[in-house]
Amino acid sequence: MAGAFRNEPFTNFRSAAMARQMNAAISRVAAEMGRECRCVIGGRPVTTAGKLLSLNPARPNEVVGIAQQCGKDEAETALAAAADAFGAVAGPAGWRHKTMQVRAGYLFRAAAVMRRRRFYLAAWLIYEIGKTWGEADAEVAEAIDFCEYYARQAIRLGTPQPLTRVAGERSALCYIPLGVGVVIPPWNFPLAILTGMAMSAVVAGNTVVLKPSSEAPIIAAKFMDVMMAIRLPPGVINLVTGPGALVGDILVQHPATRFVAFTGSKATGLHIVEFASKSQPGQPWIKRVIAEMGGKDAIIVDDEADLAAAVEGVVQSAYGFQGQKCSACSRAIVTAKVYEQFVQQLSERVRSVRVGQPTAADVHMGPVVSRAQFEKVREYIDVGRQEGRLLTGDPAQGGDGYFIPPTVFADVAPRARIAQEEIFGPVLAVIKAEDFADGIRIANDTEYGLTGAVYTRNPKKIALARRAFHVGNLYVNRKCTGALVGAHPFGGFNMSGTNAKAGGPDYLLHFLQVKTVSEKR
Ligand code: NAD
Repeated sequence: MAGAFRNEPFTNFRSAAMARQMNAAISRVAAEMGRECRCVIGGRPVTTAGKLLSLNPARPNEVVGIAQQCGKDEAETALAAAADAFGAVAGPAGWRHKTMQVRAGYLFRAAAVMRRRRFYLAAWLIYEIGKTWGEADAEVAEAIDFCEYYARQAIRLGTPQPLTRVAGERSALCYIPLGVGVVIPPWNFPLAILTGMAMSAVVAGNTVVLKPSSEAPIIAAKFMDVMMAIRLPPGVINLVTGPGALVGDILVQHPATRFVAFTGSKATGLHIVEFASKSQPGQPWIKRVIAEMGGKDAIIVDDEADLAAAVEGVVQSAYGFQGQKCSACSRAIVTAKVYEQFVQQLSERVRSVRVGQPTAADVHMGPVVSRAQFEKVREYIDVGRQEGRLLTGDPAQGGDGYFIPPTVFADVAPRARIAQEEIFGPVLAVIKAEDFADGIRIANDTEYGLTGAVYTRNPKKIALARRAFHVGNLYVNRKCTGALVGAHPFGGFNMSGTNAKAGGPDYLLHFLQVKTVSEKR
């Protein structure tokens, strides 16, 4: 029997032995780069005529790997393979008929394989999306956590559930799977979020067509290698790579699709919700959509705060993985009394952030993920020059890769574009508030509601934030990134998504439906 869930510890790279292992994994992956990765449909490798190149954002002329460019045929074949593996309702064969306990066993084995491949998987994240050592290591740890956590949750849901007794009747409630799901992860956590969404769907008894982001198809292939290693039955997870707008639309609209688990931008999420809501000929169900989307997350710094701690929390939240986290702090809202002091301390601290090749151990920030992302962020920096006072950040530096230094704009108005739109890069808007309550009002004044933090020592202000700061994940006197599975169930309000709360006790219910059977005695 599995013991209590515990978060996977992060690697201490100050240990020479750990650093050696990471360097060895980086060398190994460098030697494997440029190879072709196949899709997997019904357990069989699939190649297509068109190819998708995954490039190293830190050295864009370096090919990390070659992925397949799937289209309509592969999308439909993958859905058919998933339906076949799911099985018929009258059974007995099919993934749907395995017990929660048996399915959980696959997740425990996946966690064990990922643990053995920890540095290797992290090295792929470093090369494919430009994560630093620490960020890559934390992502692999999160993927392991998702497997360990959802396995335990499935076992819990597989046991008899309590119901009110009625004389002369025996009733039972059980959780059963939905069917074939389409899983669409983003590129910013292309292993952890992919693993979390795919494995929760699968442990609940569903089968899946997995369509990863075109920015990160190679790490998705490495995930499929893990599935091969645990001998997941053919067709339970099918990997289809290709352009989101083409393959994604086909998968989402198809009548065989029962549900969509999506994490990504607001624009794509709303598009999927709309497409999935239109019933197709022959479609016997209402599709369920889990859509976890963007954020415009704020940290409120109060005059009764430990200012040094607040500066550190803002820097880590704003610039970890180059600000490309849905939870990243993109607004620092500071009360008037300490505003100038905060701005000065922040500028000094930001100047010590080292930007460079993420394969090096001592780098704090790598490149942004792609040319498109690079250009989008630079455009926002130009907007920022009109909307605020540039304190630090000179986008001219950086060499060949898509490097953007940590950028701070002060004196930004709460309704300015850089204070309202999700930039998804290392750009922070500093906003002045009259007082703490005004800070909360400003923080809530966006269409998002994902994460937020407050720094204050005053218990009354903390109580006010608990009640009035409208975000799915609120942190007090700590950074607003780094949610841990099981400890900080994750998901936001409003345009931040459907609030599915990944890594929480209710998450698996999104992938299940409930059957009640009552027998007269
Ligand atoms: P994106 O919306 O561009 O892409 C997400 C996924 O959707 C990709 O796999 C993409 O290929 C696919 N896609 C694109 N068009 C599609 C279509 N028409 N149909 C189906 N699929 C389609 O987002 P991104 O740039 O990969 O990720 C960054 C975004 O994700 C940010 O907005 C960030 O805030 C958000 N995010 C949210 C969370 C959360 O938990 N709320 C976590 C991580 C990232």
